[in-house]
Amino acid sequence: MIELTPDEAEFRASVARLVDREIAPRAREFDERGEFPMELFRKIGELGYFGLRYPESVGGAGAGFVHYLVMAEELARGSMSLAAAVAMQAMMGTDFVFRCGTPDHHERLLKPALRGEKIGAFCLSEPNAGSDLARIETTARSGADGTRLTGRKMWVTNGTMADFFTVAASVDRTKGLKGIRFFLVERGAAGLHIGRRIPLVGVRADDVTELALEECPAVPLGDGGVSDLMQILDQVRAMTGALAVGLGRAALEDAVRYAKERVCFQKPVAAFQAIRHMLAQADVDLEASRLLVYQAGRRIERGLPSRRESAIAKLFASETANRIADTAMRVLAGYGFSMEYPAQRFFRDARFLLIGGGTSEILRDVIARETMGE
Ligand SMILES: Cc1cc2nc3c(=O)[nH]c(=O)nc-3n(C[C@H](O)[C@H](O)[C@H](O)COP(=O)(O)OP(=O)(O)OC[C@H]3O[C@@H](n4cnc5c(N)ncnc54)[C@H](O)[C@@H]3O)c2cc1C
Repeated sequence: MIELTPDEAEFRASVARLVDREIAPRAREFDERGEFPMELFRKIGELGYFGLRYPESVGGAGAGFVHYLVMAEELARGSMSLAAAVAMQAMMGTDFVFRCGTPDHHERLLKPALRGEKIGAFCLSEPNAGSDLARIETTARSGADGTRLTGRKMWVTNGTMADFFTVAASVDRTKGLKGIRFFLVERGAAGLHIGRRIPLVGVRADDVTELALEECPAVPLGDGGVSDLMQILDQVRAMTGALAVGLGRAALEDAVRYAKERVCFQKPVAAFQAIRHMLAQADVDLEASRLLVYQAGRRIERGLPSRRESAIAKLFASETANRIADTAMRVLAGYGFSMEYPAQRFFRDARFLLIGGGTSEILRDVIARETMGE
């Protein structure tokens, strides 16, 4: 295990207490009802978790990036729906406003968001552009009346609830990726239409929506575009890896508990070597995920390059979480197939980890470029 500092270890224990007392016991209810756990989301804001990686000058906690990973991992152990929404608010939903917003944006939007009083969303993906960002069709037009955005966005986490949106749009479609810039749109802006909530296979309590922009007033957030995005992508990938470690832990613990209780042929199934080896392999893979994720996190925290380490950590940890969720389903057999046991929720939620932060195929491409020294 990569050593945590005493402060990080203490923080982990306090998040774990919250998860054990208030989140894990309600995760099934959130999932079944598909209802966003707003009360807990607000509580996490009050506890200061949204501001962990932001400086105190904007109302953050000024903690290191590893604290943020610890929070993501622990919350995901309890409820992936809640963890994904929190991770979005604490990073992509607020990061551009922090880095490129004005003092007014910091006062009106960022500080309340870090307290959990406002919600920020991040809108990159579109109906025709996911991995291939050069295909973004939303356009930004600047004129005497300021900047206006027109286009459609897809998969906006926290979308129907958000007070402000960081939106990617092209200022020049002929330039592909180089033409992309980020803009701030506030709720209530003319021409902003928040669409339907998308029904999901996993993270079912999450509020993931479509968005349409029609000559919608917006404010530019910096002029770095994709290079600004790249600065945070390594953090997003390490964070998704931490979510995967949390889910993997929950699925493995559940499978071990079940294997010890379930009796077949006069023995608990945990006594059968076939089952023991499946669970041991899950433990091995989980430990490797943990090492990779926290190694990437430490590098990020120290300001070291981590493109390769973050991509490897996210790829390995998300694939591992899916394998562990599959193992848990096999160990529980018929009961794994029942909606009354959590194994199926881990199995469904784990799919999300293969998509957010870059698909496995895209990550292998990123890693291959590093492997080839390109
Ligand atoms: C629950 C959820 C929440 C999300 N939240 C947000 C959010 O808040 N904001 C946001 O902007 N987006 C969000 N997303 C969108 C997510 O980032 C995209 O789904 C993701 O980037 C993949 O894009 P896509 O779904 O369009 O797949 P595509 O890019 O269309 O990919 C389809 C398939 O082709 C493969 N592929 C694509 N290109 C290549 C290549 N060059 N080589 C090999 N294979 C390739 C992919 O790996 C995949 O298997 C969310 C998605 C989900 C499911």
